[in-house]
Amino acid sequence: MKLSVGKKAATSSEPPPTRIEAIAKVADYLEAAGVADAQEDARALLRAAAGLTRLELALAPRAPLSDEEARTLSDYAARRVAREPVSRILGERGFWTLDLAVTPGVLDPRADTETLVETALSFLAKKRDAPLSILDLGAGSGAIACALLSEFPGARAVAVDLSAEACAATAANLARCGFSNRASVVRGRWAEALQGRFDLIVSNPPYVRTDDIAGLEPEVRLHDPALALDGGADGLDCYREIIRDMPRLLAEDGLVLFEVGFDQAVSVATLLGAKGFQIERVARDAGRHERVVAARLAASGK
Ligand code: GLN
Repeated sequence: MKLSVGKKAATSSEPPPTRIEAIAKVADYLEAAGVADAQEDARALLRAAAGLTRLELALAPRAPLSDEEARTLSDYAARRVAREPVSRILGERGFWTLDLAVTPGVLDPRADTETLVETALSFLAKKRDAPLSILDLGAGSGAIACALLSEFPGARAVAVDLSAEACAATAANLARCGFSNRASVVRGRWAEALQGRFDLIVSNPPYVRTDDIAGLEPEVRLHDPALALDGGADGLDCYREIIRDMPRLLAEDGLVLFEVGFDQAVSVATLLGAKGFQIERVARDAGRHERVVAARLAASGK
């Protein structure tokens, strides 16, 4: 896409497009390629290419693009047409109240996952300042750990991931948010190498059925790491593995929060029940899907 002249070749006599003209052109280009939120994405890419805040764009929508801004925007638009998510193109994503770095080696944090943070807050409202110990299994970008540490200022977290890239991304986001002194990052397979007990154990493990991966949106299929998606034949392999270690890791009265696939809440609740957990709540996301399963160990003797 040539921003100065649409689909034809560039000529030097053509005036540079204004910011709103560029947005409209990019939006058309994205829409034609099947991108869902073409207008919104075009704005975000323009703002990043020109280094503008929302306010700066609103105040000067008719300013012309410099050549370099136009080149950068063309490059971003081409990547978006290849269905790379905006967060990956820009290397940043808003999650909860935080701005996090997103790298190619981690799952792009989703708004759905904020349901898990909300659920933690709702259960632990009275313990906001308590010295909670939190364990995040499969931390990825570190989004959940960072959001929880931001809401529980007295808490400490251990973030575990099997992928070295994810461990680096988690550590970078913890540092970016100023939480490095309250967190440690451990590379390992789930809780394998861990000891001790935690008040809150959270996980958004890979839960997509292996056979479903090919049918996912290209943004997910082509750009999220397979390791962060593939939950095995029935999507539940990681839950089984994690739940096995959970009783020895959970503090007395500790809480477990799992993010689950839209149709997996009952299956995950059943797996938890078989290991002696009682289900406290199933929370829905903004799309009304059952997204988070909350459980505690049933009191012994019950
Ligand atoms: N929410 C992601 C998706 O289905 C999957 C994330 C995961 O497996 N934990 O697009």
